[in-house]
Amino acid sequence: MSLATRAAEQQRTQQGLMVLLAQEMAALWQIITLGEFARTVPEWQAAAIVVCQRYALAATTAAADYYDTEREAAGAVSPFTVELADIPPEKAERSLSWAVKDLWIPEAEEPPPIEERLRSAQTKAVGVAEKLVEDAARDTVIDATHADPQARGWARYARAGACDFCALLALRGAVYSEDTVRFRAHDHCTCWAVPVFRGQQWEPPEHVREWQRIYREATRDVTGSRAARAAFRRALTEAGQ
Ligand SMILES: [Zn+2]
Repeated sequence: MSLATRAAEQQRTQQGLMVLLAQEMAALWQIITLGEFARTVPEWQAAAIVVCQRYALAATTAAADYYDTEREAAGAVSPFTVELADIPPEKAERSLSWAVKDLWIPEAEEPPPIEERLRSAQTKAVGVAEKLVEDAARDTVIDATHADPQARGWARYARAGACDFCALLALRGAVYSEDTVRFRAHDHCTCWAVPVFRGQQWEPPEHVREWQRIYREATRDVTGSRAARAAFRRALTEAGQ
């Protein structure tokens, strides 16, 4: 089994957790009561943070096990302990507050009906919760590659059919320890961080090699990175992705 195959497997494990997280977030939404936002929204937020932290523990534990398995498969024998990343409390607060901020639009600004804003806040809240948890899981892998003398760096695994933002980032290949590139993700992003160890080469999976081909082809006569990104996006759409 290749690095990419195991990455896809770990991605599925993480997505399984996200399905459960989304169900719990849906149940929590009942706390928010129309006409009582001042009391119930902060209550909801406190409960949501607890749920996210619980899922972060599960997701980062799975990420650490995955890292250990990869490390062993790469033949590293020196002892190393993966530290589990957590969700910074101020990040959780900021993200969850952003998800529900439209509930507070003053009537004078003629906002959309409250039912509509509740629905969209709920969708945003699930996306935000998933990102908080997944960021912690990916950070667990990425931080470990920085701390582990046996690791060379990490690579982004984007699934087939990923959005153009992620496809573009996945084209970059492996990011080595001396680089300061951070893992960029959007809400509902399923991309995964793959550790690359000494003696290993990141081999992108078939669908990424196809993106690379599309990119080369689409940007042959294009100058400037913005124009290149636009050309790649168009070509991906034309290719039915
Ligand atoms: Zn992604």
